[in-house]
Amino acid sequence: MTAPLTDPFARAITYLRVSVTDRCDFRCVYCMSENMSFLPKKELLTLEELDRMCSAFVRMGVQKLRITGGEPLVRRGVMTFFRAMTRHLDSGALKELTLTTNGSQLSRFAGELYDAGVRRVNVSLDTLDPDKFARITRWGRLPQVLEGIDAAQKAGLRIKINAVALKEFSEAELPRITEWCAERGMDLTWIEVMPMGEDIGDASRLGQFWSLRDVRAEYDRAFTTTDLTETTGGPARYIRLGETGQKIGFITPLSHNFCESCNRVRLTCTGELFMCLGQEDMADLRTPLRDHPDSGEPLEAAIRAAIRRKPKGHDFDYSRQRADGQMPRHMSHTGG
Ligand code: SAM
Ligand code: SF4
Repeated sequence: MTAPLTDPFARAITYLRVSVTDRCDFRCVYCMSENMSFLPKKELLTLEELDRMCSAFVRMGVQKLRITGGEPLVRRGVMTFFRAMTRHLDSGALKELTLTTNGSQLSRFAGELYDAGVRRVNVSLDTLDPDKFARITRWGRLPQVLEGIDAAQKAGLRIKINAVALKEFSEAELPRITEWCAERGMDLTWIEVMPMGEDIGDASRLGQFWSLRDVRAEYDRAFTTTDLTETTGGPARYIRLGETGQKIGFITPLSHNFCESCNRVRLTCTGELFMCLGQEDMADLRTPLRDHPDSGEPLEAAIRAAIRRKPKGHDFDYSRQRADGQMPRHMSHTGG
């Protein structure tokens, strides 16, 4: 292993989120527009390039890889990439290989993911009502996702559910989805909707915002809640429900309270490294990767130079009901 990655604020970078595709079989309303244009294939990192890229980060101290997208499981050949990463788990350099998925392809891939060393999977699911599910995902169908979750649990994968908190939409969902997760031994995390995408100035998006403070208040009303002090270095805070033993997480990316412990960077499917989810600065890693197929050194130098530019924090701000600090990127670009 080469010297570990540390940013100018003495934060060790140990967590890489990798988007392996910008494509998706859903069109969730808060994430994509109905008519998305996707990148031409030559722009994407090949599976072999993804391997070289991730392996460079692992050599530099990354211990956790989260594969995302777009929908990672619609990338052709993605299991070849997962299997290639198994060697880093076997060597002990990588502690965790995981993914975030909409669950639509889990029936097909759960067993192979387990065999590749994946143990935990985040599945995004906002509602258990088939009609509401179809409305929010536009192209998704709930039974397919529920079957996928079943298959994953049978294969031995631990599932955490991520639900985006949307005013009106989620309020009625909260008790039901919480109970459903408890019955299946799954933790649940609520994500505050973020100002992403070019149509962000749109008042309807701001109207969808449901503060996680209010979500938390719902739990306090209905359950005995205990704050958990653990942190993953990310934007999630957790409580435990006394009645079910479940862990409920809250991801408030719009607050700044987690930046000081940020341990992560994000790689897009085209090889751009974003050092902060809320800033536009990025580093092109594809060029040093492609220009030097036989040497990892230029790539490692580019990674180090990028980490030296990692900002202290981000600039999201909903407080004046304007999307200040808004980002022109869609979540499917940086992978959330
Ligand atoms: N397709 C996979 C999925 O849905 O889990 C992985 C990619 S998706 C971009 C990752 C996460 O970002 C999902 O949990 C999704 O709900 C969340 N997400 C997408 N757009 C968002 C937004 N505008 N604000 C907050 N979360 C968002
Ligand atoms: Fe696809 Fe995930 Fe975005 Fe939904 S949130 S459109 S499933 S990438």
